[in-house]
Amino acid sequence: MTAESAAVDPLRRAFESGLTRPYRWRRSQLLELRRMLLDNRQAFENALTQDLGKHPVESDITEIGVLVGEIDHALRRLKRWMRPSPVHIPLALAPGSARIVHEPLGVVLIIGPWNCPLQLILAPLIGALAAGNTAIIKPSEIAAATSATLADLVPRYLDRRAIRVVEGDADITGKLLEQRLDHVFFTGSEQVGRVVAAAAAKTLTPVTLELGGKSPVYIDGTVDAAVAARRIMWGKLLNAGQTCVAPDYVLATPATARALIPHLQRAVRQMYGTDPESSDDYGSIITEKHTRRLAALLEGQPVSFGGAVSVPKRFVAPTVIDGASPSSAIMHEEIFGPVLPIVHVHSAEEARAFIRARPKPLATYVFTRDGGVRKAFVAETSSGALSFGAPAVHLGAPKLPFGGVGASGVGSYHGKHSFTTFSHAKAVLDKPLHPDSMRLAYPPYGGRLKGLLLWLLTGVRGAPRSR
Ligand code: NAD
Repeated sequence: MTAESAAVDPLRRAFESGLTRPYRWRRSQLLELRRMLLDNRQAFENALTQDLGKHPVESDITEIGVLVGEIDHALRRLKRWMRPSPVHIPLALAPGSARIVHEPLGVVLIIGPWNCPLQLILAPLIGALAAGNTAIIKPSEIAAATSATLADLVPRYLDRRAIRVVEGDADITGKLLEQRLDHVFFTGSEQVGRVVAAAAAKTLTPVTLELGGKSPVYIDGTVDAAVAARRIMWGKLLNAGQTCVAPDYVLATPATARALIPHLQRAVRQMYGTDPESSDDYGSIITEKHTRRLAALLEGQPVSFGGAVSVPKRFVAPTVIDGASPSSAIMHEEIFGPVLPIVHVHSAEEARAFIRARPKPLATYVFTRDGGVRKAFVAETSSGALSFGAPAVHLGAPKLPFGGVGASGVGSYHGKHSFTTFSHAKAVLDKPLHPDSMRLAYPPYGGRLKGLLLWLLTGVRGAPRSR
């Protein structure tokens, strides 16, 4: 038996035993998860500071707070979500009744990234447990301190028979993907998403893919530039830009860009002071390798402010580039760092065409008071989410599905959408044997009365003839 099957097999047995199905078990696990987060808040905050230089308050907002909110939302509604949903049946099927039963999938594998290493591994777990599954969670090995903290704490709070933490890298994840699983929930890059989807396809295991990409901002001259600049910079610089829903770049006319840049710079000063490198509130880049990648993206760019990089300190200054060329490398890969290029366009229409010509983003952010422009963005662009007036915060609304479209992902979660993702909607039909109302469907076909009744019941016209 391999280490990977040793992790999966007991979970399969636990699932088959029915352990995870009752409401009480699901509720107790969600309560324990909540207790684990709050009892060990400091341990998690320390791990996140170690991994990403995150300020504890930022961890509370973007990691622990989001999770507690999701758990509380699920706890309040779990009973309702679990209830079978009765549905109407057509007259042709009467008498009878039908309902949708939400059944758990079985053993699910959740693979997380390093950038919000706690939130993005546990938020899917909330859905998996609410839906009555057993789960293996595989945190990112790059956020090593958070991974180790999870490996230590999860078995102390959650039911070990049903929830396991497996730590490790791509090799271990690859081996886990060879096991018999009922669902794979992956958050990470598009490249690895393809590898995971291909591996899961071999066993026809369904996948949810929460991927990244370049989320654009469009801003025009109709909005309060000072407030917009603060929000854009807040969304960009949270976690030093290493957020999947961070604004990746801005589309604006040259005049709007000119007016916006001093506000962007002021916003940085207000939030992180004149020396962000010495600010406790400003995060670090995850590794030296990623710092070098960002330095390479900055090369030859028309930097408006910022631009400083220190590889050993894993520091990249908040940076704005005015007039980035759409053909430069920085406009081809997801930046995932505190660098904001502004690409000049001449109209909102050109901005929409720019977005449409590229892979569908995880989010699009629009700052305008023009109702026509707002409507056109809703109708003419496609992205996982579209938010007017604020980046990133849509993920804090559990009733909104969170996920991508096209290259930014497959499937969604949060709130009830998580429950749905980790459940099978089983169609259940109940038809009494008496009276035998199905006689109409039995051969021999033909006869005028049958034809008339079929027409009434199905809408298909023309009496069947006997051959
Ligand atoms: P990544 O794809 O490199 O790694 C994600 C996970 O996959 C890790 O646990 C890693 O161990 C595993 N992995 C890596 N290579 C693998 C392989 N060959 N086979 C199987 N598993 C493998 O992503 P990352 O660098 O940790 O995270 C950054 C990316 O994630 C960005 O693109 C970002 O936009 C995206 N992201 C998306 C969301 C979202 O919710 N849509 C959230 C956060 C991050």
